[in-house]
Amino acid sequence: MTLIDEINRLKKEKNAVILAHNYQRPEIQDIADYVGDSIGLSRRAMEEKEAKIIVFSAVDFMAESAAVLNPDKKVLLPTLGARCPMAQMLTVDEIKRLKVHYPLVPVVLYVNTLAEAKAYCDICCTSANAVEVVNSVNTETVIFGPDHNLAEHVHRKTGKTIIPIPERGFCPTHLLFQPEDVQALKMTYPDAVVMVHPECTVEMQNIADFIGSTSQMCRYVKKSDAKAFIVATEEGIMHRLKKENPGKQFILAYEDAVCPNMKLNTLERLYTSLKEEKHVVTVPEPVAKKARKALERMFELK
Ligand code: SF4
Repeated sequence: MTLIDEINRLKKEKNAVILAHNYQRPEIQDIADYVGDSIGLSRRAMEEKEAKIIVFSAVDFMAESAAVLNPDKKVLLPTLGARCPMAQMLTVDEIKRLKVHYPLVPVVLYVNTLAEAKAYCDICCTSANAVEVVNSVNTETVIFGPDHNLAEHVHRKTGKTIIPIPERGFCPTHLLFQPEDVQALKMTYPDAVVMVHPECTVEMQNIADFIGSTSQMCRYVKKSDAKAFIVATEEGIMHRLKKENPGKQFILAYEDAVCPNMKLNTLERLYTSLKEEKHVVTVPEPVAKKARKALERMFELK
């Protein structure tokens, strides 16, 4: 029996589903029941009424959101150390400090935050709906974090004043993309459409033909008549883009754009996680209750 057969057997036996983020290794994406972005995966987790176990192959904050939204299910993170550095950049103390300074300004937090931070915000957002969420808030100024580049994208699209929290939160992987590399690629692929994730720098956003989340990129490519795409987001998305669009060409805007945290999850670790039912992700109910409210407010918008 291969490892994949074993995983499938355990999945059936334990009534488990495997959810994998778009940045996961190809072999994990291929074995997953659903591949998507962070919030697509959480929504999917809520829809899996029959499942008892959710193996969330991604990083800490995403598995936490699934646990917050599915208190009756066991949520497993295959690798305990798979943590998102951006989510670690925002502390509860920082939010409390800013709330004292701006008591009337709502706090909008990107889902790339820990549950304890979400518990102190008014509403969550994803990179796909950040503009819509900020527009839905009834003030001209919002506290927004932790990603500084996404904050800038939101500011440009909404015209609202953004108070970033922390001052310069960022994703180390998305900072690797540089306009010079894209310009060089454009010499070889002059007709390629440039797709940029909003966690990339403003300079990258400025040269983009399309700015969007991973799922928005997938939808955009399917609808587009273009034949070639330069992609500025974590390299894991390339597997899905190529698989779903065999006739089109995809070029990663920087070939070493790898999130080492996402890549900690391997097929072997996923197997062990499912077999031994570890590492269980739990969020204390008082925190989960508040974080759930912030996530549900976001879901109510659509
Ligand atoms: S790609 Fe960036 S934001 Fe996403 S998990 Fe990795 S470090 Fe965090």
